[in-house]
Order: sequence, then structure tokens, then C-alpha cells
Amino acid sequence: MKKCAVLSVGQEILFGHTLDTNASFFCNEMRLLGIEVAEMRTVNDEFVDIVKAITELAEVADFILVSGGLGPTPDDLTRQAIAEAAGVELVLKPELLEQIEKYFATINRKMGESNKVQAMLPETATALPNNCGTAPGVRCAVGSAVVFAMPGVPSEMKVMFAESVKPELLAESGNVEYYLKRIHLSGMGESYVGDYLKELQKAYPDLEIGTTVDHYIVTVRVSGVDTAKAEEAAALVREAFKDFVFGEDGVTLEEAIVGYLQSKGMTLALAESCTGGIIASKIVGVSGASKVLLEGIVSYSNESKIRTLGVDPEIIAEYGAVSARCAKAMAEGARSKAGADYALSVTGIAGPDGGTEQKPVGTVFFAVAAPDKTYVFKHVFPQSARNILRIFASHYTMNIMRQIVSGIECYREETPLE
Ligand code: AMP
Ligand code: MG
Repeated sequence: MKKCAVLSVGQEILFGHTLDTNASFFCNEMRLLGIEVAEMRTVNDEFVDIVKAITELAEVADFILVSGGLGPTPDDLTRQAIAEAAGVELVLKPELLEQIEKYFATINRKMGESNKVQAMLPETATALPNNCGTAPGVRCAVGSAVVFAMPGVPSEMKVMFAESVKPELLAESGNVEYYLKRIHLSGMGESYVGDYLKELQKAYPDLEIGTTVDHYIVTVRVSGVDTAKAEEAAALVREAFKDFVFGEDGVTLEEAIVGYLQSKGMTLALAESCTGGIIASKIVGVSGASKVLLEGIVSYSNESKIRTLGVDPEIIAEYGAVSARCAKAMAEGARSKAGADYALSVTGIAGPDGGTEQKPVGTVFFAVAAPDKTYVFKHVFPQSARNILRIFASHYTMNIMRQIVSGIECYREETPLE
């Protein structure tokens, strides 16, 4: 098995200002290529530190994936450090200079003097083209290892990796790509999912099976070299959690909802109080939303709930704005005012203030008004920061709406109207 090392260069990472997402991206990619990551390091923008890291990592790895420090400013020293570690000079490459000048011309700017350094490469290196920015990447042998240096900006790095680095690594690893399936579900606890997966792992010891969780969305990951076995295991996961599964391989909850409603020619309205438009924003983020979403109302004050959604003032006076009755009236109001097939309403206490003994922070009432009836639910989310609770409530309620709209069991008891 080939070995690789990941090196992140940048003070901002060591300061804690920038999360090292590049390293996690590289590690994921290496796993799919069947290349072992032997070590990960982060160093400051200091010449000696970068040289030392590259020299040492070249001893333990066949490839070193470096990101950061290729910019035009004096603290960008990765290029120089690679030359030093390789024991060669840094030289100006006229063809690179020409490319950089051309790039500036296309964005209607004059190339600065400082950008010249980006046209320099260690003598023995080749440039990795950069189609998204100025700095070309660097491919250079250091000892028995090959260093690939890419920009720090994640979007630039990813394009360069895919176009100029991955093909070589893929060939080196025998053109074996790992199969990776991600299955996304919501409405079921991660621990419950984990218990099932523990058993599944026993039946498929050669696969890697795991989960991640993100605001009530659980992602099951199945990967391995044996595609047939991995697909078999993925099919079992899909079957075990079927009503909770909303998508695969990056499909979002909102994409699933819009896709389903669009395929049925049905429409949606939203009445959001505590989520304050998060759900509308997510839905609008999906291409095709215009065929589905008729209206999304952020109705925050009591007065607005009465005026824009037609909630009976007596409901608010008697039961409060955070109540089953109010959620029901909001959904029904939104549905009838917009003339939509379905409407989702959410009203809750996001905190940190406003909780009571009966309705603590995290209490959320929500309703789905459907053509045949209105479903009303209550859920108390665990104590969390205000804006975390708002995302919890968005995902949770969207998933139940998805289940109702697509006519599948939501395994959730409706709440009585007090
Ligand atoms: P650089 O290529 O070093 O000029 O980095 C440019 C920008 O990319 C930095 O200011 C960071 O915002 C970002 N960046 C650099 N390294 C990383 C990393 N390892 N992970 C995520 N973002 C990064
Ligand atoms: Mg930097």
C-alpha cells in the first residue's frame, strides 16, 4: 500500500482561525484511492519549519500533499521550501509568467510585481495548472517522495487536485478506486443506527461502515474495494432504515422535498416563526424550487401571525403562540392563503430566554397542513444554543413533512390540541 503525508501550511490554522478542511479532504480522497495516510502535520508560514516538515515527511511517505503558502505575499514560502528540501534552485519559468500575466488580463487587472514569484519553481519541478487562480501548483521530487503543493483556498485546491494530482495517484495505486456510498437519513437516532451498523460490520469485516451526524441528519458511510459487497451492505442499510432515508451521496433534505413535490406537481407554503426563514432559504436553494414553493412567511410576532396567517387572536391569548393550536392555525392559514397543496408551520422557543417550566427552551410545535388533514406535532429539542436549535427544528420538521408528503410512515405521534 502506498503511503502519503498531508502537510498544511499557514499560521491561520495554528491560530485556530481557519479549520483545516483541506487535510480532511485529502484524507477522504486517499481512503478512496486506497492510499494510507501515514501522517498529518500543520506548520507555520516559516521557511525552516516547512523545509523540516517536507524533509521529514519525505522519509515516511511516497507522496506529500501540501496546501497553502503558494500566494504572492512574503509569508508564502512553500515554493522556496520545496526547492530547499529538494536541494535545487528556485528558477523563473517564462511560460508560467506568461500564463499569470494572461490570467490578470482576463480579469482586467495588471499583474503586481509580487505575483512574479508565482512563476518560479524549483528547478526539477513541474507546474500544476491552476484554472481558478494565479498560483500554479508544484510537483517536485524530494528524496524518494513526490511533493504536490496546492493552493490553500479550498475551492482552488480541489480543482487542482482533481485535474492534476488525483490521476497520478490513481495510477500509482493501481487504478483501484474505493467504492463509497453515503446514505442520508433523518428521524432516527445515531445510536440506534450505530447499533444496527455494528452488527452489519461483523457480517462485512472488509468494509468500512460508519456514521456521521449533523443537526439531526445521520449519514451512513459504506466503503471498500469490493464494490459488489459494499453495494450489498448499502442495500441492507437502505432497507433497514427505508422510511427515514431521504437521499444518497450528498442529496439534501430540501432537494429530496423539492424533487418529490415537483415530480408530483404539488406545491408548498411555509409559515416560520422560530426558524425565521431557514426552511424557506433551504428550499429556495434547490433548483426547481420555483415550481414548488408558492410562499414562505416569516411570521414572528403574534400580531403578524394574526394578520398574515389569519391565526385566531383567541388561540394566542388562550394557548400562546408556541402551542399546538397556533402551529395548526399557522399551517392551515399558510396553506389556504397561498393556495398550496401542503404547508409546514414551525413555532417554538429558541432561547436562551423565554422558556417556562411547561414549555422549556427547545420546545417546538409544528404542523403539516395536507389536503386531507392537518398533522400537529410537538418536539422538545435538547438544550442547545439558539441558532443550533433553529437548525435542529428546521431539519426535524422538514423530514416529517417529507414523510407525510410522500405518504410514508413518520413514526411520530401527533400531539393533542391541549
Ligand atoms: P494560502 O494559499 O496559504 O494563501 O491560503 C489562502 C487561504 O486559504 C487562507 O487564508 C485560508 O483561508 C485558506 N486555507 C489555507 N489553508 C487551508 C486549509 N488547510 N484548510 C482550509 N482552508 C485553508
Ligand atoms: Mg497562507
